[in-house]
Amino acid sequence: MNTNQQTGTCLRCHRPLTSPRSIANGYGPTCARRIRAAANTADLTPYDARQLDSARELIEDAAIIPLRSQVFTVVSTDGTETYLAHPAACTCPAGLKARPDRRPCYHTAAARMLLAA
Ligand SMILES: [Zn+2]
Ligand SMILES: [Zn+2]
Repeated sequence: MNTNQQTGTCLRCHRPLTSPRSIANGYGPTCARRIRAAANTADLTPYDARQLDSARELIEDAAIIPLRSQVFTVVSTDGTETYLAHPAACTCPAGLKARPDRRPCYHTAAARMLLAA
């Protein structure tokens, strides 16, 4: 076995991941499928299509990691900062400026998708 090979556990069910693809995704195939399905059942009405694409990308890049029950750690696009995201709030600059008449940031959309899975 290649000792340089990355190993990991699924971010959702904590089972060991074996395939390089799953390790890169952060989720095993079953959880990845459930998360994709959840993207269709979660309440995502406040978001536009571009935000939902960004939210899916965030999940696929394993850049949103469960911290505790409803709270996730999110890595910023350039990888230099981390924020705390919840389905209704986020500590990123856009999230902190959130107002009822504005769209919430896409990190909260990703949190909703993951919680619906
Ligand atoms: Zn899993
Ligand atoms: Zn945010």
